[in-house]
Amino acid sequence: MVARHVLEFPGGYTRTTGPVIGRFLSELRARRIVGVRTREGRVLVPPLEYDPATGEPVTGEYVEVGPAGTVTTCAWVEEPLDGHPLDRPFAWALIDLDGADTALVHAVDAGDPKALRAGTRVWPVWRDRPTGNITDISYFVPEVTKIVSNVRTEYRLQAGGALRVFLEGVRRGVFLGGRCAACDKVYVPYRLSCPQCGNAIPETIELPDTGTITTFAINNLPDPRAPEVPFVSAYILVDDADIPMIALIGDVPAHEVRQGMRVKAVWVPEGERTASMANVRWFAPTGEPDRELP
Ligand SMILES: [Zn+2]
Repeated sequence: MVARHVLEFPGGYTRTTGPVIGRFLSELRARRIVGVRTREGRVLVPPLEYDPATGEPVTGEYVEVGPAGTVTTCAWVEEPLDGHPLDRPFAWALIDLDGADTALVHAVDAGDPKALRAGTRVWPVWRDRPTGNITDISYFVPEVTKIVSNVRTEYRLQAGGALRVFLEGVRRGVFLGGRCAACDKVYVPYRLSCPQCGNAIPETIELPDTGTITTFAINNLPDPRAPEVPFVSAYILVDDADIPMIALIGDVPAHEVRQGMRVKAVWVPEGERTASMANVRWFAPTGEPDRELP
């Protein structure tokens, strides 16, 4: 046997707030959160007429707190109910507003339970027209800790003497390097002077387009030049050179790339070449045995 009852006050249940809660709600209407100071100096938020710790009446001193605060504990609500302040998953949280000695219960719209934990800083989001109700604070949101900016820079690079020579080589499908006459080091791309001993490097030498991977990184963010995600960028010690060059690695699963792996440049077809490193699509494994690195 089951009887179904409804308890309802048509038109709502009216009660007076008293001076202390009334002040709190009036301040909310002005988008301020206040607490009241107890005789012992603590600040109660929301304010109460009596200090729950001592039973003494509070002082008449109201103190503005927050508006930001720190979550002390929270409970995630995956499926909000009808009367809940949000219609999407949210958290109930105890929030220590800055300057308060007690915590306030309110909703936090964090989007994801992982975005919220004890210690998370939160700020209130106010409703458009405050009416003097705790719901004037629609909910709290985690403090802004990061922003996403669109970044795009367009620039022209004027290839200087040495780089122009190197890129003209790349247009023909060869890597041009330079050998220092003093210390015998071979640099690629070609450069005009030796960074180690300062000697001028007057002549270019043609280097093979094969080399050995010295170090590499597996990248998980897409790159328009990369064959797929994840892709590998690597330092490649071109055969006969002493300085590695950075390039993409392709035609091999990222997890198979290793130090010492032998690779060869994959050039775009001759008809598509320009004086740019885009001529090298990437380096691909040659299948030769790995080479020990110096
Ligand atoms: Zn040198």
